[in-house]
Amino acid sequence: MKPVDIKSLVNYVSLKILGGGDYLLDALEEYLVNGEGPAIVAHKYNISKHQLRGYAQRIIEKSGNEMRAKKIIPILQYLAKDIKPIVVRNDNGVYTCKVCNTMVAREDTEEHVRKYHKDQLSLAIKKMMERLEEYRANKEKAVLVTAS
Ligand SMILES: [Zn+2]
Repeated sequence: MKPVDIKSLVNYVSLKILGGGDYLLDALEEYLVNGEGPAIVAHKYNISKHQLRGYAQRIIEKSGNEMRAKKIIPILQYLAKDIKPIVVRNDNGVYTCKVCNTMVAREDTEEHVRKYHKDQLSLAIKKMMERLEEYRANKEKAVLVTAS
C-alpha cells in the first residue's frame, strides 16, 4: 500500500489555509468523517459540491485511501490549529491579503500566497511539522504508559 504522504498533506493544507480556505478541514471532517451530505456541507462553507469533492479527493489520494483520510483529518486539524489565513474574505466576498494589503481575485488567492509570501508559507509548514513531532512524541508516551 502507498504510504501516507504527510509532507504533501501538510503543504496542501497550509497553502489552502493561508489562501483563505481555513474551512477546509472542518468541511472535510463533516463530509468525509461524519458522512454529512455534500450539498449541505458545500452550502455551509459557501463552496460548490464539485470543489468539496475535489478537496476530499486530494486528501484521499495523499493519504493512500479513504479509511486513512478519515483518520488523518482530525490529526491535520490538530496540526493546523494555529495556522491563520493571510488572505481573508470580507462580507462583500472580496478577498484581501493582510500582509501586503492588496485585493486578490478569489481564484488567485493560493497563487498569491505562493508567489509573494513564500516565507509565511514555509513558516506555516514548519509549524505544522513541529506539531506533528509533538503529536508523535505524545503518542509514543501514551503507548509507553499503557504498556507499563
Ligand atoms: Zn499579499
